[in-house]
Amino acid sequence: MITRSQLITNQPLIIGGPCSVASAEQIMRIALGVQKAGAHALRSQLWKPRTKPSSFQGVGDEGLEWIKAAKKASGLAVAMEVMTPEHVEKVKGLADILWIGARNMQNYELLKSLQQDQRPVILKRAFIATMSEWLGAADYIGKDKVILCERGIRTGADAMRFTLDLNSMLVAQHDHHMPVIVDPSHTAGRRDMVEHLALAGIAAGANGLVIETHYDPEEEMVDRDQTITLKTFESIVKKTSYIRETL
Ligand code: PEP
Ligand code: MN
Repeated sequence: MITRSQLITNQPLIIGGPCSVASAEQIMRIALGVQKAGAHALRSQLWKPRTKPSSFQGVGDEGLEWIKAAKKASGLAVAMEVMTPEHVEKVKGLADILWIGARNMQNYELLKSLQQDQRPVILKRAFIATMSEWLGAADYIGKDKVILCERGIRTGADAMRFTLDLNSMLVAQHDHHMPVIVDPSHTAGRRDMVEHLALAGIAAGANGLVIETHYDPEEEMVDRDQTITLKTFESIVKKTSYIRETL
């Protein structure tokens, strides 16, 4: 089992992968691509929380075997979103890191279902959650295994999809001693800004990044506009090490 202290080190934790798992070939190719570029873990989502029921809901259980194969071939740790306690059971032995999406940050029964699980949990911040709501949610899971994820909040600044709240990241780290990773993809909503926001997060001291990445972003079924190429991902990883060394 991987522990939080093995993930959160002096080096930023780098997680890359598609917004949504689409096929065995797709997740295999992306896993190998992000591994080669320097990732530590694979983003792999089978169940998608979508705003509209008519939107693609993810491939579901069918993808479990695909992720297993991609994990074996790449040697990467696997991070998976869980939306129900049943999902938590289904990904036992497969997901090394669980994650709770922004929409489920206050789904307290789901959070409680993680209390007995030893795996690290990434807790994404809800769209307008205050610091105490975010930390309260972490408490439901068990703070010692939680990695907070700042993925942008709703503000009056509507020029981008969300606003990356690095101020809160700093308060969570410095005053509450919680590790925080940054998701520049959902904050930006557009791929030309992802690298800038990722590097801003790292320069401010983020403990890692989770980035939507695809060998051909135009093929992505969900969040295509913010998905970056493997080449850009590699560039971010390189610059991340450079920034960290110079800090
Ligand atoms: C995602 O990671 O694909 C996602 C839906 O993000 P969030 O929960 O932050 O909206
Ligand atoms: Mn997404």
